[in-house]
Amino acid sequence: MEKPLERVKIAIVGGGPAGIACAIEAKAKGLEPVVVLEKHKEVCYTISKFYKPGKRVDADYRDKNVKPIGLCSFETETKEEFLERINSWIKQWKLDVRLNSEVTNIVKNNGDYEIWVKDKPTFLAEFVIIAIGIFCAPNKPEYPIPSELKNRVFFEPPDVALENKKILVVGGGNTAAEVSLQFCDKNEVHLSYRRPYFFRINETNLNLLYQKEKEEKIKLLLGTDIIQIAPEGEKIKVFFKDETTEFYDVIIYCLGGTTPKNFLKKIGIELDEKGNPILNEHLETNLPKIFLAGDLAVKGGNILKAFNSAHTIIEKITEYEKNRA
Ligand SMILES: Cc1cc2nc3c(=O)[nH]c(=O)nc-3n(C[C@H](O)[C@H](O)[C@H](O)COP(=O)(O)OP(=O)(O)OC[C@H]3O[C@@H](n4cnc5c(N)ncnc54)[C@H](O)[C@@H]3O)c2cc1C
Repeated sequence: MEKPLERVKIAIVGGGPAGIACAIEAKAKGLEPVVVLEKHKEVCYTISKFYKPGKRVDADYRDKNVKPIGLCSFETETKEEFLERINSWIKQWKLDVRLNSEVTNIVKNNGDYEIWVKDKPTFLAEFVIIAIGIFCAPNKPEYPIPSELKNRVFFEPPDVALENKKILVVGGGNTAAEVSLQFCDKNEVHLSYRRPYFFRINETNLNLLYQKEKEEKIKLLLGTDIIQIAPEGEKIKVFFKDETTEFYDVIIYCLGGTTPKNFLKKIGIELDEKGNPILNEHLETNLPKIFLAGDLAVKGGNILKAFNSAHTIIEKITEYEKNRA
């Protein structure tokens, strides 16, 4: 039986500075339950990935005139101190942060919003705050990628011409299908997918894929799980879970991880002609009760602006709640 959706007052998508500050501001106003959904296995992934160890986190980064307006603020400190600050806030405010919870879609459901985590409807939220920043990275496999393979392994569709190569495409969505179709006429293409059948590929791509399989231009490796890859001379040796191995020239992983713009468009959030989301002064989108916080919502983003955006949004949600009472 399908698991029932977990009901929350506010679903916060993204556990960076903006998302965490939103949860703190909400808690302080007594808004409950609030859940923070973070794609990675740690909060503030952008900071932990892109800041060098020991980096100074400037409180006046790119803008000296930002004054804190809400509960969250900080003075210039190191990356490690800043991350420690965030983690101590999470404990102090008893925030409900769910790690490894990539939100893949948000769908209207009778005035509430269904929040899809890893392609499954999981939460039903009255308010949604999207705080996913602007540094979305493509998903990568769990096993390590040896550095020697860096020019032969791609995590996004490559914009290079490939000819006479044996290519392994990994993934089960439309991108994997389209990349396989793009390269199959001039290369030998194998498409590896963990599941025994495709369920995320649209009909057009699926038909084309099966047609190319018939023409022996694409070999479909369904129900295959890769556990390791290793360099071997000019080739990449791929180890499958069933203990078989195979050699390739190139691997293209198509494991998802959308850009913020595509994510927003998919949900139905309106963008202007420059591709920026259209927001009102409360940072609310064209979809009522869906807000954008942090780098997604403000120009020339920094951490203090992210904190302040959280305050602005929670003030508006509090007003919605008062008007209802
Ligand atoms: C190299 C570098 C140095 C910087 N130095 C400074 C500085 O010194 N001082 C300063 O104030 N600012 C600095 N900035 C800017 C600052 O990091 C950003 O303004 C700030 O991180 C924005 O916070 P955010 O919460 O909006 O987004 P982010 O910090 O990007 O957080 C977004 C979070 O959402 C998660 N996420 C993404 N997609 C999903 C999804 N689909 N589902 C669930 N979770 C998702 C991400 O994993 C991430 O944890 C720097 C930026 C960079 C790149």
